Amino acid sequence: MSNEVESAAASHARLVEQRWDGLETRVSSKLAQIAGLDRGREAQLLAQAANAKTATQRVHWLRKGAQAISDAVAPLAACRKGCSHCCSISVVIPRAEALVIAKETSRKLNAAAGFEVDFEGNVIDRVREEMTQKYQGQPCVFLESGQCQIYEHRPLACRLLLNLDEDDLLCQLVPNAGPPRVPYLNSRAHEVRALLAFGNQQYDDIRAWFRH
Ligand code: SF4
Repeated sequence: MSNEVESAAASHARLVEQRWDGLETRVSSKLAQIAGLDRGREAQLLAQAANAKTATQRVHWLRKGAQAISDAVAPLAACRKGCSHCCSISVVIPRAEALVIAKETSRKLNAAAGFEVDFEGNVIDRVREEMTQKYQGQPCVFLESGQCQIYEHRPLACRLLLNLDEDDLLCQLVPNAGPPRVPYLNSRAHEVRALLAFGNQQYDDIRAWFRH
């Protein structure tokens, strides 16, 4: 490792440590505000997703549900237009959603991609961990000049990743500084319900489903 990289990583690590000092309390206060929000609309949209007859309709309702969360949380989140750090971490999506994105964007799907995932055996957590290690720092295939080229069609995983800090410091990927530790909104409940709406099927990272 060059001295320059080493010193950039060390100075980033110091800033991160300072930022985490008291951060959990600040985030808890935001979570308390979020807990007080009316989530009725989101629940309604998820119910519509669960009853959808086709994957395209299901994705449509799940996107609306994700938007309802994101609109409600936006004033408390660090995420801003033009920020794209989270486009260089893993983005795991089910085959059904990848197929919808392929159709909407006229992009070819890599038929060889995909791992079988069993929710009951928590295999999804193992797949995520493996994908995190494999794709950390690799820009998404749809990221060009810092912009998402399929923004209207982006996966649910992208729509639901919200950083509850004040700015993007903790999202920054700094060489040799290790994986970022970010106080993301725990949108896991929504995500799990969304994934369950697709059921046990194949999952993979967006970079595996779609190639450059
Ligand atoms: S699909 Fe778009 S928003 Fe999602 S990771 Fe790729 S470039 Fe970023």
